[in-house]
Amino acid sequence: MSDGVWAAPGRVNLIGEHTDYNDGFVMPFALPHTTVVTAARRDDGVLRLHSANVEGGAVELRVGDLAPGRGAGGWTDYPAGVVWALREAGHPAAGADLHYESTVPTGAGLSSSAALEVVTALALNDLYELGLERCRMARLCRRAENVYVGAPTGIMDQTASACCTDGHALHLDTRDLSQRQIPFDLAALGLELLVVDTRVKHAHSDGEYGKRRAGCEAGAAALGVPALRDVPYEGLARALDRLDDPEVRGLVRHVVTENHRVERVIGLLEAGEVRAIGPVLTEGHASLRDDFRVSCPELDLVVDTALAAGALGARMTGGGFGGSAIVLTDAPTTPTVTKSVLEAFASAGHAEPRIFPATPSRGATRVS
Ligand code: ADP
Ligand code: MG
Repeated sequence: MSDGVWAAPGRVNLIGEHTDYNDGFVMPFALPHTTVVTAARRDDGVLRLHSANVEGGAVELRVGDLAPGRGAGGWTDYPAGVVWALREAGHPAAGADLHYESTVPTGAGLSSSAALEVVTALALNDLYELGLERCRMARLCRRAENVYVGAPTGIMDQTASACCTDGHALHLDTRDLSQRQIPFDLAALGLELLVVDTRVKHAHSDGEYGKRRAGCEAGAAALGVPALRDVPYEGLARALDRLDDPEVRGLVRHVVTENHRVERVIGLLEAGEVRAIGPVLTEGHASLRDDFRVSCPELDLVVDTALAAGALGARMTGGGFGGSAIVLTDAPTTPTVTKSVLEAFASAGHAEPRIFPATPSRGATRVS
């Protein structure tokens, strides 16, 4: 197939946080921001990688040399990892010229890494006529990130980038990977969803993430279930009674109530009651802050300020300890909410956050 241009979006998670490694539910939607690759097949076994978002020239790698642990440790590990994962799974991807340009903010919890992986997989799938389905590509991209890059992420980000559709959020069951497109048309109802990138990333976040995962596993083991997904919402009080460690109790309570919140949001969206999801988002924030303990002062400031300025709901999104928050507003109140958050950050002495409206957009696609 001929050379061409492909695009894959970043994502924001509407609800369902820290549920993915507990076999639970998530509900991301794709951002209008994308990573675009201009790609050409080459038959000399060389992968030539260049990104307009990174200083420095192109990097050339031999496809046959790619192996986990042998990566350079920089951004090229993401696309190189995808090529490695495709080949390891028996798909004959090989050399290519890949030039990337992205509007997805990096390191903001908006999944620039998944956009980079998925757009690479999509381009190679077409260039080498691999015939892979999107879900399969998402799984191989996750493997690239877990094994080649060495980042222990779940399946949400890659699936969102690969499978989201315009005007919808994607309900993903991270146990059986079944998916459902849930209508999420904000504009028709005069609503807006703002993303507030705090531009903060607290240094201890990786270690804390590992501790939360281990705590969730300990909770599931103590309750005798394969994963916290298996603790029913109706049985939560009884389950909590059986746990001695207050930290583990908090983790379990968050995961179980968060899965329930995903179901509540789906019910509301399917009933057309989009405004009513606001308080559920805010409840989710309180749970992440108090029970799961992954928020930080900057994220709490966004949420508290936005709500005081009239937002319908707000919560941190992504792993926490920095990154981004989302804020649901009635469109006419967006300027007031935005101004309040900017002022609050200025008076607290924090760097200026980046605030933009997010329209649920389409997933990865071939552009030309
Ligand atoms: P997030 O996925 O939330 O943006 P990650 O830390 O998972 O944060 O991924 C960010 C990393 O992905 C960057 O540090 C960089 O290595 C890589 N990356 C993402 N987009 C690009 C791009 N367009 N060009 C080069 N590298 C990129
Ligand atoms: Mg990422």
